[in-house]
Amino acid sequence: MHNTRDYCKLHLVLWFKRSNYEDSPLHIIISLRLNNYKDQILAAKTMDELVALCKRRGFIYQSSEIYGGLQGLYDYGPLGVELKNNLKMTWWASMVYERDDIEGLDASILTHSDVLKHSGHEDTFTDPLIDCKSCGLRFRSDQIPEQCKDEELTEPRDFNLMFKTNVGPIDDGSSFAYLRPETAQQIFINFKNIVDSTSQSLPFGIAQIGKAFRNEITPRNFIFRVREFEQMELEFFVKPGTDEEWHKKWVDSRLEWWINQGISKNKIQLQTIEGEELSHYSKSTIDIMYKFPHGLEELEGIANRTDFDLGSHSKNQNEFNITSKVIENKASNAKLAIQDLDSKEWVIPYVIEPSAGVDRGVLAVLNEAFNIEKLPDGKERTVLSFPRHLSPIKAAVVPLKKNNNDIVEKAKEIKNRLQKCQLGRVVIENTGNIGKSYRKHDEVGTPLCITVDFDTLDKGTVTVRNRDTMKQDVIDQSKIVDYFTNYFKQ
Ligand code: ATP
Repeated sequence: MHNTRDYCKLHLVLWFKRSNYEDSPLHIIISLRLNNYKDQILAAKTMDELVALCKRRGFIYQSSEIYGGLQGLYDYGPLGVELKNNLKMTWWASMVYERDDIEGLDASILTHSDVLKHSGHEDTFTDPLIDCKSCGLRFRSDQIPEQCKDEELTEPRDFNLMFKTNVGPIDDGSSFAYLRPETAQQIFINFKNIVDSTSQSLPFGIAQIGKAFRNEITPRNFIFRVREFEQMELEFFVKPGTDEEWHKKWVDSRLEWWINQGISKNKIQLQTIEGEELSHYSKSTIDIMYKFPHGLEELEGIANRTDFDLGSHSKNQNEFNITSKVIENKASNAKLAIQDLDSKEWVIPYVIEPSAGVDRGVLAVLNEAFNIEKLPDGKERTVLSFPRHLSPIKAAVVPLKKNNNDIVEKAKEIKNRLQKCQLGRVVIENTGNIGKSYRKHDEVGTPLCITVDFDTLDKGTVTVRNRDTMKQDVIDQSKIVDYFTNYFKQ
């Protein structure tokens, strides 16, 4: 993109493409004015191909589709849920299982209004909203199309992105809760519980994966900007003064993690957030930006949230040397402090927060994996070259003849043996057409297809076909479990 204006125009086009306004006169006017932006529109074709593949193969569907769809909401199908779970599990393992200084949490989504009052979300979690009196549409103030003339626009007003819901049987507005806009706040309000129930001391972290909800003014670009999404958030608590060093460490560590998920280094950029863009709680934020099909956008943010959150949710704030600006808290009944083992003083720690979007991660992983390859015979094949650990299906067992009972039973027995290895989903692919089965499994990213044929019955061998090399190994079926487990250990 050349500048912010081009970027906004592209988003507008993509938004029209995804919404029901594609045939409206406004869309036609905008399209006519955008002939110079063909390159970007062509780039969106890749997104269209991804969207089509996701629907065709059961990764992701529009939510409530049979009733016309709900904008900004998506459902993960049989393969989508496996891919998403694999990504989340890899994150969880890297945070909680492979380290000794991080604990896990799974807290509630419905959130007490005091939490989001003291976190600053009630006052500041807003986007500037503008109405166009001529076309009747609403836009974020940085996304106004050119043909909406200034005199037709209302003054920007703050639009709070949090969803509210009624709690209990009385619906008079007196008892409500928010659907959390980030998973982080539940981590902060559970800080004392976790310190008291574990043996952690500074520095240590709390990790959580879960849903977050934001009433985005213009959700767009498939699962990139949605109203209901998942986050993988770590709050890592450190001694004040060591925060900058830890911030740097976490940026490096998160970059490395994304690269291990198959994200190309050359599609990633680090962006330092400055000035007015910096959130009210942050001393410094570095975003990991990824070149999505629609442009370079945030995949994960790593913020130095200082002592703002624990300080905001603490009682007796005056007893501590809180460095950030917090509002007085008379509602909390806990001091969110920890004893420094060296000085024996009670301190409110600083916190470093790597916060990644699961859905944006899935989109990036799909984008990286998606490939249309030219084969030596001139034909093309679509292949999702996922890293092995992320593949939604780990192996497909393919009987040569779908009506031959002995072959099918043998295939089922092998499938069950592989499934018991607990490396992920293994399926039987009983179409009776080997070529079609291979093509289908290339397209959903299955690394191994194991064919059971007459030789399996006569000589005890199976043929293992590799997605990436398309090479076939004939092996003794007694070795199939070792072959399979070794392949996924690499
Ligand atoms: P953006 O500037 O793109 O709106 P943000 O800075 O508001 O994002 P954060 O509050 O830092 O996002 O949230 C952490 C992560 O959660 C983001 O890096 C992103 O991956 C994910 N995320 C945030 N908003 C959305 C959304 N509406 N849809 C999908 N993922 C989201």
